[in-house]
Amino acid sequence: MNEAPPQPGCCLACGAPSVQPFYEQDNVPVHSCLLVDERSDALGFPTGSISLGFCTRCGFITNTAFRPAVHQYSERYEETQEFSPRFRQFAGELAEHWISRYGLRHRRVLEIGCGKGSFLELFCELGDNEGLGIDPSYVPERIRGGDRLRFLQDFYDERYGPICADAVICRHTLEHIGPVRDFLRTLRTGIGDRTDTIVLFELPDARRVLEEAAFWDVYYEHCSYFTYGSLARTFRASGFEVLDLTLAFDDQYLII
Ligand SMILES: [Zn+2]
Repeated sequence: MNEAPPQPGCCLACGAPSVQPFYEQDNVPVHSCLLVDERSDALGFPTGSISLGFCTRCGFITNTAFRPAVHQYSERYEETQEFSPRFRQFAGELAEHWISRYGLRHRRVLEIGCGKGSFLELFCELGDNEGLGIDPSYVPERIRGGDRLRFLQDFYDERYGPICADAVICRHTLEHIGPVRDFLRTLRTGIGDRTDTIVLFELPDARRVLEEAAFWDVYYEHCSYFTYGSLARTFRASGFEVLDLTLAFDDQYLII
């Protein structure tokens, strides 16, 4: 990932010098889901600033004060929501929907930001697929695995080169990435000349966050905020064709 601070005023989705600040909050813990051993570690945890800026050209919202170097995505990061029956039900329905809509059976699936790997495992079980998951917080002991599932404890970037997968899944990850256009272009370059690779992203809908004033969904890990329009525009500008764009999970999530 690009560790350089963003250029002041420049949009990381469309590149235009048209980002206008509208919300600021200091002293925000830089992680929300990192487990620490001691109470004192929690109380003394590093903090950063949130300064949300809205791009008047493409609608993308970003934390212009975001500094990715403070983050420690590792085995200590606990992102899973699979202990919630409601979330498990949602994940199962989503996997079945994607498999049937896009014919993803007996295929090769790459999941970027797979966390502990439970969704990829389910996706491969339901569709009889082969899966590769990449995530720095992957923990081998947390998943049964199997011959057709592989995991890499790493960040995805251009080092992974050409992508040999029929589908690429990326859930609740893009909102943690600052240079979103660079990331999507790296993915598109990796897919190369293929035009039939299915790319499936899920992330929070910023419109709901703003309408509900859902301040609990504005935190330091979330540096990038998309709505329908800005998400579709950014994907198209990165070389993708948008086949479907919907809301899910009580309209909390965007699925593209
Ligand atoms: Zn923009």
